[in-house]
Amino acid sequence: PGGYVAAERSAELGLKTAVVEKGQLGGTCLNRGCMPTKALLHAAKQLSHMRSAGALGLIADGVDYDFNAVQRCKNVAVDQLREGIAQGFKLKKVTHLVGTAQITAPNTVSVDGEAITAANILIATGSAPVRPPIPGLDLPGVVTSDELLSPEGRDFRQLVIIGGGVIGMEFAAIYRALGRAVTVIEAAPRLLPAMDREISQSLAMLLKKQGIEIALNARVERIVDAEDGLAVIYTDKKGEECCAEADGVLAAVGRRAYFDGLFADGLCPETAHGALVCSQHFETSIKGIFAVGDVIAGSVQLAHAASAQGISVVHRLAGRPITTNLNYVPSCVYVDPEIASVGMTEAQAKAAGSPVLVGKTPTLANGKSLIEHCERGFIKLVFRAED
Ligand code: NAD
Repeated sequence: PGGYVAAERSAELGLKTAVVEKGQLGGTCLNRGCMPTKALLHAAKQLSHMRSAGALGLIADGVDYDFNAVQRCKNVAVDQLREGIAQGFKLKKVTHLVGTAQITAPNTVSVDGEAITAANILIATGSAPVRPPIPGLDLPGVVTSDELLSPEGRDFRQLVIIGGGVIGMEFAAIYRALGRAVTVIEAAPRLLPAMDREISQSLAMLLKKQGIEIALNARVERIVDAEDGLAVIYTDKKGEECCAEADGVLAAVGRRAYFDGLFADGLCPETAHGALVCSQHFETSIKGIFAVGDVIAGSVQLAHAASAQGISVVHRLAGRPITTNLNYVPSCVYVDPEIASVGMTEAQAKAAGSPVLVGKTPTLANGKSLIEHCERGFIKLVFRAED
């Protein structure tokens, strides 16, 4: 979404544009991220609604699911969206080069050995799952979101999720709705640590009610083979050693910037914590080489942010105005109820210094929420007291 969206806009603005892609068009979001996750979440949500239909006076007996059929449905949507990008490239005259790119000089990209020159280069190579140094992480049955979102998917009876961040929460929702046993082990004192505290608390309550086991302030020590699959050994908040049994373990502890092998020897852009450092206009420390999305230092790692950044880069190159304010990036975690947010959390606003007021209303007070049995949500506004 960093690359193809920028490419289409760049071509629309009259710049001669080529995209080099070594895998499939669409990147993580389309092939191993947002889109397949949303397809699985949609099926899981429909299933939950059917199972709870009795509460509305509806009769839906014998409701079940076919794991492989759900995966096929997801694949059809992903294939269709990918085809849409290829069509868009043809229509907008973006050249699609299949191969592995390496930047060999500030204006030169080698694609599987063939040199191409360009006035400007935009890097949108994204991120890859972090694999923490936990003993046993290489055992069969230990996966990342890449494997769970592969075309065939992976089914587990008992899933242990390491990491209570966004990926961890969305997969907890999917597998629990499919009736699987789910345990979440999170190192921080709360789930979704980057979000508002009240959201974390509310979500934890909701997940526990659904039967999801949650261990907070927990440190995973090792994963070992067990009689029935795997055992995740962790230290809980009291410092006691605990064991969670599973046949599948999902490592969802964050994603790292990915630009392995992209720069030829001798080209050394500035980096921080393994990510590319960019100016406010997304230029790396090498003139004429720009970068957007998950690959840049301090990125919010959201597809729509990458797209907005890519558009702003090509607008600047084409001398067009930039109309998006990139300081405010809305986000949504697709659990049920969904968690949407934009701007500062209450804690961040307080830390920023000026007095803060908070308004909160439960969705219990909202007729439509009540009718749809979605009364557990709330809307919270954080605003500067002064004005
Ligand atoms: P994350 O940073 O959101 O969460 C990782 C979690 O793992 C953190 O809560 C962290 O405290 C915990 N953790 C780290 N090491 C641990 C350990 N050894 N043991 C236990 N817990 C540990 O990362 P993610 O969930 O992997 O997601 C990656 C990125 O992808 C994020 O930036 C996320 O925003 C993005 N993403 C967004 C969406 C969405 O917007 N709907 C969906 C999926 C992914």
